[in-house]
Amino acid sequence: MKDNNIQSVGEQCFGCTACVHTCPEHCICMGEDSKGFLYPQVDEENCTQCGACLQVCPAVVDIFDAELYPDMPVYGVKHSRDEVRMLSASGGAFTAISDYVLENDGVVYGAAYGESMRVEHQRAATKEMRNRLCGSKYVQSDLNDSFLRIREDAASGKTVYVTGTPCQIAGLKLFLGDTYPEVLTSDLVCTGVPPYKVFADFVQLIESQHQQKAKHIIFRDKQIGWRGTHISVEFDTGMKLIDTELLCTYAQLYESLIMLRPCCYACKYACYNRQGDLTISDFWGIEEVRPEFEDTLGVSLVFANSRKGEHLFHAVSGSLEYFTTDAHACYQERLGYPSERNPFSSAFWKDYLARGYGYAAEKYAKIID
Ligand SMILES: Cc1cc2nc3c(=O)[nH]c(=O)nc-3n(C[C@H](O)[C@H](O)[C@H](O)COP(=O)(O)OP(=O)(O)OC[C@H]3O[C@@H](n4cnc5c(N)ncnc54)[C@H](O)[C@@H]3O)c2cc1C
Repeated sequence: MKDNNIQSVGEQCFGCTACVHTCPEHCICMGEDSKGFLYPQVDEENCTQCGACLQVCPAVVDIFDAELYPDMPVYGVKHSRDEVRMLSASGGAFTAISDYVLENDGVVYGAAYGESMRVEHQRAATKEMRNRLCGSKYVQSDLNDSFLRIREDAASGKTVYVTGTPCQIAGLKLFLGDTYPEVLTSDLVCTGVPPYKVFADFVQLIESQHQQKAKHIIFRDKQIGWRGTHISVEFDTGMKLIDTELLCTYAQLYESLIMLRPCCYACKYACYNRQGDLTISDFWGIEEVRPEFEDTLGVSLVFANSRKGEHLFHAVSGSLEYFTTDAHACYQERLGYPSERNPFSSAFWKDYLARGYGYAAEKYAKIID
């Protein structure tokens, strides 16, 4: 008999954890595969094959709205404070929205660095904690028990704002079902995610090269400008490096699409039919649409995908400079189709697993250059 549980999803799994927190027998947990990607592992002895896990799986369930939100309002956005944009990957839309939620006694969930620079979803109830969520981390964020905590917060009557990749937001929506329609969500236009293990090895190599402990890593350091991936590291001694040869290897590997989670190469969420109430991304193509709006600190693209999303955007618009545009003017590939697997991907993983990050990064950063 074919497994009627989440194990049957195989490499299509997004790693969202909805199944883990839904299983009535509590017999699913997340575990790393050899490359470090998190997948659900089922205790087959206690699994009753009830199929509850499959009913909340964003790889299995079709949760696309039949129709897009009418006219799907689309905005080009800059936070009015430059210091906010300095800390943000693009125009700081996330900070404006989360400020509003926090100022109204709400809580915010998003990706931050935890212990050993692990990228994980955290809950922020203050602006200081929220600042840890700012900036893109090009690593899969571990959701841990976030879905449970989000549900608890929503049940307590708090305003909850959750940000994540579209598959994470889709998983959350399936997990919550119809019970908490007031939870606010933003998804990101997403290239795909590498596993934490590769990033951890990269960080370890930087630390051993410099004999210092990394305190913070920024993937899109605005010291160089907002276009491109400029990685900087700040050590606990206060020393800061940016775009060194080693730091550039991770940026090159990420951009070459060589080390993404397998499901990212077939992602059904890489389309205009979005999962969040809002979608936030870089406004690539701004130079064609409104060149005078661009500067070196970045511009966000925001889609309002629901009435809730549109209200939220208008509630925060006082802290933004923005203009209205249309969805097709700001087309980028990840709104049309998923990232294409780099032809050297299998060879990269083979070398990475056999010889480690340093060897694989040096070899493939040259090949893909
Ligand atoms: C893995 C990844 C791939 C992306 N790919 C694209 C792309 O192809 N095209 C594009 O236009 N934009 C992409 N983005 C989005 C873009 O980089 C910015 O995150 C977005 O423009 C928001 O910027 P901001 O200035 O409003 O806020 P920022 O302060 O930069 O907000 C960051 C937000 O992103 C969330 N976040 C950060 N890292 C992660 C993570 N690993 N997983 C889940 N959520 C995370 C935070 O929780 C926060 O809500 C990607 C982001 C990530 C994390």
